[in-house]
Amino acid sequence: MPEGKIIKALSGFYYVLNEGNVIQCRGRGVFRKNKITPLVGDEVVYQAENDQEGYILEVKERKNELVRPPIANVDQAILVFSAVEPDFSTALLDRFLVLVEYNRIRPVICITKMDLTSGEQKELIYSYADDYRKAGYEVMLTSSETEEGIKELLPLLEGEISVFAGQSGVGKSSLLNALRPDLELKTDDISTHLGRGKHTTRHVELISVGAGHVADTPGFSSLEFMEIEAEDLNYCFPDIEVLSEECKFRGCLHIKEPKCAVKAAAESGKLPQYRYEHYTSFLEEIKDRKPRY
Ligand code: GDP
Ligand code: ZN
Repeated sequence: MPEGKIIKALSGFYYVLNEGNVIQCRGRGVFRKNKITPLVGDEVVYQAENDQEGYILEVKERKNELVRPPIANVDQAILVFSAVEPDFSTALLDRFLVLVEYNRIRPVICITKMDLTSGEQKELIYSYADDYRKAGYEVMLTSSETEEGIKELLPLLEGEISVFAGQSGVGKSSLLNALRPDLELKTDDISTHLGRGKHTTRHVELISVGAGHVADTPGFSSLEFMEIEAEDLNYCFPDIEVLSEECKFRGCLHIKEPKCAVKAAAESGKLPQYRYEHYTSFLEEIKDRKPRY
């Protein structure tokens, strides 16, 4: 039986991509039995009726599942942050990084609007980029205006399902346009369509970019740490996780514990002070969280 990837779901039809062909499929009774609703991003087995239509027989096991946008098997999140307009914020970036890491999705940091930066602002962005690269992240500096860094993004998308995330106005739609100029999406249009709930029922679609796929709707609209436990936070900061191997106590939360390697690194400057501060403030936030009933 042929297999493919669902790239679009609309009005009870699933559009399955298999080697460049898109087959319009319906689901069969199996889903009712297993209570599985096929999602965009699903790898499926289908039966072809002809070269345009078919039936989905089976949904392969998912690696993960995002709620907003509803999409399965997300490999990568491109965290889009502008250097300026609005100003780059490490606090907001660290918040996105925690949520992405928690969902076991690989983050790529993309700092846009580099063409708008002054010399001094550039230096600042370079130093942040350096910090995040040292923490183990891929950092791309781009401009959709001059196309700086755009070609370099393409190989990172290869073979993956990527989702863009980031505040409104940082340049997500412009970036997608720069990557796929043939789509000619109007930036303002997609921003409103992309960003906020203009339409209550939104249809997510995977767009092929280079040799990969990108969701046309940005992800991680809620930035609350609802499900994250205090002990999990360590793993959402890979730089802190590495340092914590040297902490005296296992399960050290790096606050008041003696002989804490993370605190020592923050004091010596080996770990950027702001990373440590964000870790501690997120930890407070998690501890203060009201239990949900
Ligand atoms: P989105 O809300 O994240 O999708 O952001 P948009 O792509 O709609 O961009 C918001 C505004 O920033 C628009 O006016 C864009 O023209 C502008 N913009 C986006 N990227 C760049 C860039 O790299 N350089 C410059 N100069 N402006 C940009
Ligand atoms: Zn510690």
